[in-house]
Amino acid sequence: MAGELGLVTDFFPTARLSDMLCPAFDSCRRSRLEAYSVSTLSPALHPGIAIRAVDLAKSYSSATAPVHALRGVTLEVKRGGRVALLGKSGSGKSTLLNLLGGLDHATSGSLHVGGHDLDGHSRRELSRFRSASVGMIFQAFHLIPSRTALENAELPMIFAGRPPGERRALAKQALESVGLGARLHHRPTEMSGGENQRVAVARALVNRPEVVLADEPTGNLDSDTASEVMGLILDHVDRYNATLVLVTHDEELARTCTDRVIRLKDGRLVS
Ligand code: ADP
Repeated sequence: MAGELGLVTDFFPTARLSDMLCPAFDSCRRSRLEAYSVSTLSPALHPGIAIRAVDLAKSYSSATAPVHALRGVTLEVKRGGRVALLGKSGSGKSTLLNLLGGLDHATSGSLHVGGHDLDGHSRRELSRFRSASVGMIFQAFHLIPSRTALENAELPMIFAGRPPGERRALAKQALESVGLGARLHHRPTEMSGGENQRVAVARALVNRPEVVLADEPTGNLDSDTASEVMGLILDHVDRYNATLVLVTHDEELARTCTDRVIRLKDGRLVS
């Protein structure tokens, strides 16, 4: 059990994540935002709404002045929606992704994700929410180097409290579904970048999350492998009517893989 707790700690790091997240809009974005202004939002989250942020703000304290990373973000994403989040480095993408994934608390505003009101939850409750409802995929994979593909893919199920036999079978199934049936007992150093990202995708999707948060998931891959990995993510999104938030710098990827592009600038949604 001590080993399992170690895995969980590694999987839910307390340090901030590198870039991740996002939503996107089409040309109607501004009018949609206006349509979802605070005054028109109903207090209870409609089941067809996967993400609702209202006037979300996040500030970090620093030795000099506070850093206002998000300055009043209001957005809504329907269940099954695919959103790309674009913006320059420092615009607040990671901060927003961390809030959506329950990795951090907002300074003010309200946030619902996958039917959960994330305001005022303890760290433990947020961890439970993450393991049940959210799948996170990072550019740098964030696999545990000393663990096999199978053990890495099991992680979210350990936290969810599934029995060992069941989680092993589901992890195996998830790895087979991303084409890694022959790599179950390989460690990350014994696999290619594309294979490592497939393990990360299997791990993120093994609990069939309602919301998938992907931070430049193809940023370290060649173009063929990138297409395959994006295909696996989109397959899951389609099959389970999951909601995708994709952080990317690639305008074409955003256009082809999502139905909305949202841009962040200085902590605010623009255009
Ligand atoms: P992006 O992901 O778009 O590059 P971030 O969300 O990482 O942007 O950062 C937004 C702003 O918040 C930046 O000015 C960054 O320096 C600052 N920031 C992010 N995390 C922290 C933190 N833990 N402490 C202090 N400032 C932070």
